[in-house]
Amino acid sequence: MRTEEKIAGRRPPRFDLIAGSVCLDFVNTLDDRHIKPKELLESYIDLARFGEDTGVLQPGQVDRLFERSYANPERAQQVLLWGRELREAIHDVFWAIMNRREVPALALAKLNSYVQTAAGHMRLVRVKDGFKWRFDDPLDFDSVLWPIARSAADLLASDQLTYVRACSSKACEWFFLDTSKNHHRRWCDMTRCGNRAKVRRFYARKKKEH
Ligand SMILES: [Zn+2]
Repeated sequence: MRTEEKIAGRRPPRFDLIAGSVCLDFVNTLDDRHIKPKELLESYIDLARFGEDTGVLQPGQVDRLFERSYANPERAQQVLLWGRELREAIHDVFWAIMNRREVPALALAKLNSYVQTAAGHMRLVRVKDGFKWRFDDPLDFDSVLWPIARSAADLLASDQLTYVRACSSKACEWFFLDTSKNHHRRWCDMTRCGNRAKVRRFYARKKKEH
């Protein structure tokens, strides 16, 4: 058994993946964005862990990237900064679409540059029943950014774009893809925000009654 296989899946997930889309989960790694932003990507390790949790990177690949980041912290830090830049570009583009505003040209240009880099790393590989798109260079520091950029490009160019939403809690506003049957999903997560809002409404009503 190869080392990668032995350690596969040993880590508990670190990120709350509620969005139904990798690029939107990525946006949510800046938590409480509009109130008191909390950075969930504090290091390259966090970025690679996001890749692992979302399944865009393999656990063995993540272990190797950890090792590489310890050996070359400057480069890892640079890719972390690129990751945050990509995240903000994705946020700005989707935010504008949701709010029916003009998509900022700078954000779209930035996103496009990451999308183009990602496309340059895509390869067709033969699989059992046909072909699949795969990314090359799995040990490149940037390899975590490619599938995220690709996920944003795929969603923007899809008919699902109209179902991208932000959580109704003003304190939260996490992004998600509303795949519910009637497309009336309001909360990122019922326990995280939906119940809190219910409780608030309940107490507001009680106050009025007394
Ligand atoms: Zn929420």
